[in-house]
Amino acid sequence: MAIIIDGKELARKIRMNLKEEVDELKKTSGIIPKLAVIMVGDDKASKVYVKNKSKACDEIGIEYEEFLLDESTTMEKLLDLIEELNNRNDVNGILLQSPIPKHLDISKAFNKIDYRKDVDGFNPMNVGKLSIGEDCFISCTPFGVTKMLEEYNIDVEGKNVVIIGRSNIVGKPLIQCMLKKNATVTVCHSRTKNIKNITSNADILIAALGKPRFITDDMIKDGAVIIDVGINRTDDGKLVGDVDFENVEKKVSYITPVPGGVGPMTIAMLMTNVVKAAKNTNL
Ligand code: NAP
Repeated sequence: MAIIIDGKELARKIRMNLKEEVDELKKTSGIIPKLAVIMVGDDKASKVYVKNKSKACDEIGIEYEEFLLDESTTMEKLLDLIEELNNRNDVNGILLQSPIPKHLDISKAFNKIDYRKDVDGFNPMNVGKLSIGEDCFISCTPFGVTKMLEEYNIDVEGKNVVIIGRSNIVGKPLIQCMLKKNATVTVCHSRTKNIKNITSNADILIAALGKPRFITDDMIKDGAVIIDVGINRTDDGKLVGDVDFENVEKKVSYITPVPGGVGPMTIAMLMTNVVKAAKNTNL
């Protein structure tokens, strides 16, 4: 029987520790961390994500301000807003909720966010710093996965870590996070041939491809550690990961559930980044 990695509980502990840290910051130096969130248009899923982020801020004592731009907003208006938030001393972290409408250039927007306030870690400055091992803001999901492994004392050094997915927000930063911990990293993507041959050699398998129950028990080796980043909605409305949890669980040493695994960690690491940004700006 596998140990189920409880991301929900771990995230709760991280938020509680952050609350103490924020209380202390307020008491000793009068600093109140603040997150500004920009949303463009009214994507339903984004509204839920943004609400969860605001709830977490509330719980920890981080100030939260939301900026809603119309679906038809121009790139110029979006960049102007980012510029304004870059210049505001009371704002420590800036987050642009994706997706944004197709007529807008999201890379340009991420580029515009001051890298010292880029709590999502998407600005090329942070991406570059991560790749050369400098202190930076790490994209929250890969940061959360790394933290989970640390908290469960799962040693990564020298292990075969296989990552499925190479997106800018999950797969690619994960490569750097795992390399930094001295793992031997293999990355698979939609053009990879014979995935099963690769996954069955993984000591640690991280699935981040967005295909419901793609990883089946015949694709993994006995005793592997399985981290499921995927969040997929099935036709009957059920939330499932990229891993066929019921069957895979019988064969592995550790596994994350969906929901309650990586998802809650992502928000906890965002909060961690906001507190770090507040401390950095006030050093
Ligand atoms: P994405 O941008 O769509 O990237 C998916 C990646 O998977 C791509 O690199 C793609 O390859 C690869 N891929 C797709 N089909 C594949 C296949 N059949 N075999 C091997 N590789 C395949 O997705 P994402 O934003 O990284 O998100 C991935 C999943 O994680 C989604 O389910 C998303 O909802 C979830 N997610 C969860 C959290 C969380 O907090 N838990 C956060 C972010 C994302 P190509 O590059 O060749 O196209």
